[in-house]
Parts: sequence; C-alpha cells; structure tokens
Amino acid sequence: MVIRLVLFGAPGAGKGTQAVLLEKHFGALHISTGDLFRKAMKEKAALGDQVRSYMDAGYLVPDEIVMNLVHQELVDVIKDNGFIFDGFPRTVPQAEAFSQILAKMNQSLTAVISLEVEQGLLVRRISGRRVCPKCAALYHVDTLINKEICPIDHSTLEQRKDDAEDAVETRLKTFALQTLPLKEYYQEKNLLLQIDGSGSPDAVFARILSRLQPVFN
Ligand code: AMP
Repeated sequence: MVIRLVLFGAPGAGKGTQAVLLEKHFGALHISTGDLFRKAMKEKAALGDQVRSYMDAGYLVPDEIVMNLVHQELVDVIKDNGFIFDGFPRTVPQAEAFSQILAKMNQSLTAVISLEVEQGLLVRRISGRRVCPKCAALYHVDTLINKEICPIDHSTLEQRKDDAEDAVETRLKTFALQTLPLKEYYQEKNLLLQIDGSGSPDAVFARILSRLQPVFN
C-alpha cells in the first residue's frame, strides 16, 4: 500500500523529526515546504526573495505562492510516490486546493497525523533547536555533547532565524489563528489521528505506528 500522510502540528511539535523516521520506515518521500522555501532563500532564487520577509518574521507565506510551488515542483513528484507532507497544508484554502490536486490524480490521503504538544514544551523545543547547514539534520542542544558541531559532518550548527524569540511568538499565534482550523477540516473528513507528541522521538514514533496500524487493516 502506498502511504500518503500529512503531518500536522504547531512549530516545535516534532513534525520534521517524525517525518524523517516515517520516511525511513515507509520508503515514502518526506516533503517539507519550509525546507523548500529555505533552500530557495539560500540559493537566492526569485522564490527565495518572495518568501524571505514572511518567513523571517514568522508569518505564513501567502497561499498563492505556496500552491504555485506545489503545482510547479511537487505534483509530478507525488504522482507515483507515497509522501509525508511536513508543514503543508497550513490553511484551509491550501487543504482544499490540495484535495482537488489529489482527486485529479485519483489519490486520497491515508491519514493526517496531528502531533499534540503543550505550549511550554513547544517553546523549550524551538529555543533549543539547531540545524546543520550542510546535511539539514535537526538537533536539540540538550542532546548534543558539543553543542555547536554537527556530529555527522562536523559543520557548525545554526539556529533558524525564525526560531528566535520574537518570530516564535508570531509563529505560535499564526498557527493558532490560521492553521488550527485545519484540524476540524480533517476531523470532518475522518482523516485526523491525534497523537501525544511529548516524550522522545522514538516514543512518539511508536505511538504513530500503533495508530496507523488499524488504517492499514
Ligand atoms: P517550517 O519549516 O515548516 O516551520 O516552515 C517555516 C516557515 O516557512 C513558516 O513559518 C512559513 O513562513 C513558511 N511555510 C512553510 N510551509 C508553509 C505553508 N504550507 N504555508 C505557508 N507558509 C509556509
């Protein structure tokens, strides 16, 4: 069975971490719209210029730009492959447009996994988050012996600009206002699996797998 998942959750809920584990487990593609936008900013592509100010301040990129990216770069990629979307869709209009794209390809979502994490833990996770600029691996400073160096390729780790305190506050507010309504949208479609996102990555992953089991049967 081809798996088609959406990972849903507030910033810091662990979507990126779980997407990597799910990608390995199911052999499906991990697609992060945030990573694609960050790549465009690094490569100084026109798209990067369009999204920089929104992203750095912690606001959502407008739906039109997001859906252009999905149409231009992702439709072909997901046509024949299972996928794990991480950070998309983020608004109800994006979800509606996505559902039309899938319907045109005679596809449907397997499930939407909502990672539930209380606000205090979200902030602790985001403020300690570091990313390797070379291999894109994600870490939390508490789990690193040398807090500045990537254990995989020894690059100097970075903090995302939008993980700084001001932008985090905006991102959490934006999530509550614009993204949270998606939960009801997917609940009504009977696709939503709400999962406790606290604890270690392995513990959360085990919960996800056990909740997905009945979906396959
Ligand atoms: P993420 O890496 O998923 O936390 O995304 C980082 C930032 O990229 C977000 O705060 C938004 O500014 C932008 N972004 C990523 N995905 C989307 C999306 N589906 N809709 C709107 N903005 C997005």
